[in-house]
Amino acid sequence: MRIMIGKSSVEAVQGDITKDYSHAIVNAANKTLLGGGGVDGAIHRAGGPEILEQCHRLNGCDTGDAKITTGGRLPAKYVIHTVGPVYHDGKHNEPELLASCHRRSLEVALSNGVRTVAFPAISCGVYGYPVPKAAAIAIKTVRTFLQKHQEIERVRFVLFDADALRVFAGELERQGNAGKE
Ligand code: ADP
Repeated sequence: MRIMIGKSSVEAVQGDITKDYSHAIVNAANKTLLGGGGVDGAIHRAGGPEILEQCHRLNGCDTGDAKITTGGRLPAKYVIHTVGPVYHDGKHNEPELLASCHRRSLEVALSNGVRTVAFPAISCGVYGYPVPKAAAIAIKTVRTFLQKHQEIERVRFVLFDADALRVFAGELERQGNAGKE
């Protein structure tokens, strides 16, 4: 599934983000940036020790913020590490923080000359964010950013499982048709 925002595309695919050839892939990290499970563990395993060495020098990362390292042995040139919110009930600033993750990741991409970015479903694993709610926020935030920054040519959501892909693809179609929202 793919929609266009001006000349930029936003798409959703199923796959392993560590194998993605976007210029930068986004990591759903934790505040220490020193490694964890899920997609974070997979990125460090596939990318090798160079990424962790650089993370050690970054002094962690606040929830909703993003920091960049090289991609080590990954096909991607960079990894943008962002820290998603832990989901409680949606009334603890989770939507704003999740939106901030996407916005900050794209700002960091832009300031490093990155043209294509891949996101996983941030906060949708161990951090417990309901996928439909997260997909709506992620896609809305990306669309808003791309409307102002056509330098980013492609944003791809790489979803690990078929259920998450279905939700993200459905949301892309919905927001693409609405064209605004
Ligand atoms: P968080 O702590 O932000 O919830 P997780 O890593 O636990 O982060 O999960 C985020 C999402 O990443 C989940 O939907 C999970 O299925 C997915 N995921 C795990 N491994 C990969 C991978 N290799 N590629 C893409 N997505 C992945």
